[in-house]
Amino acid sequence: MTASRQAVMFRLPPLPTIGEIIKLFKLKAEKQLSQNFLLDLRLTDKIVRKAGSLKDAHVCEVGPGPGGITRSILNAGVAEVLLIEKDPRFIPGLQMLSDAAPGKVRIVHGDILTYNKLGKAFPEHLMKNWEDDPPDIHIIGNLPFSVSTPLIIKWLENISKRDGPFRYGRIQMTLTFQKEVGEVDVTVVHFTPLVQPKIEQPFKLVEKVVRTVFQFRRKYCHQSVRVLFPEAERLEKAEQLLKLADVDPILRPTQLSMFHFKSLCDVYRKMCDEDPKLFTYNYRDELTEKRNRKRSRFCKTEDDVI
Ligand code: SAM
Repeated sequence: MTASRQAVMFRLPPLPTIGEIIKLFKLKAEKQLSQNFLLDLRLTDKIVRKAGSLKDAHVCEVGPGPGGITRSILNAGVAEVLLIEKDPRFIPGLQMLSDAAPGKVRIVHGDILTYNKLGKAFPEHLMKNWEDDPPDIHIIGNLPFSVSTPLIIKWLENISKRDGPFRYGRIQMTLTFQKEVGEVDVTVVHFTPLVQPKIEQPFKLVEKVVRTVFQFRRKYCHQSVRVLFPEAERLEKAEQLLKLADVDPILRPTQLSMFHFKSLCDVYRKMCDEDPKLFTYNYRDELTEKRNRKRSRFCKTEDDVI
């Protein structure tokens, strides 16, 4: 029998259920950490199927918790799964899974937001050119919003530089999002990095424009883009940006298309090239400076402050 045939036929031996693991290791979900667990293996199988075929694949699972999704990943016939879990309470239960699937599970007790070894975590022979099909490496995870949002931003930057885990190529990600802790419905999003980015500008510039536009989600976009510019020229420059980018000023951030964002980034880039101080301008610094100036006007001496 070939190694790959063995892999596809791999099934975990009978194990305690996830509910029993939770009781056995006293794994009460910490609501402050937005923890909640998927117990239904039909649901975790469904999530894992969204990743496509995992036969012989190398997978990194972020935030495995008591290991429901991990079991489905192992049953999909993977070559190996790397687990990165922050909460030490889950490590013994994950170790039990590792014992049941010898040689297939690697456990890292760590924080995925600061873990910086994903760029070396998989066999080098799996590496693909960026333009090729994605490598046989997947990232899968069910994390709270508070972690998945900064994580996706970090990975988008890695994708733009093709570093971190993306030095192996266009690794696919399958991530679940739950609106509220305890909400049963989960949305599963499957991402594959594009060969060619839709917006061909430096990541930091795109991030600045998108973050600025979305900071006032309910307002018209002309109100948010203003703060890309120093106060003295704010209205005039914001009008110029929207006009040159051909964006209707009374669209709200959620109504802007990818084309609008591309256009805003391209025009803002030109404005930054013409005025190099513009890119480093941050309206929050201006606000703080203003506040400090106001305070110093009222508090002339140290005695006044006291
Ligand atoms: N994957 C499990 C499931 O679906 O049942 C657990 C999901 S629970 C919503 C999120 C898991 O991510 C918890 O186990 C939590 O400890 C872990 N976690 C949270 N922040 C993390 C981080 N920064 N790095 C690694 N794991 C994290």
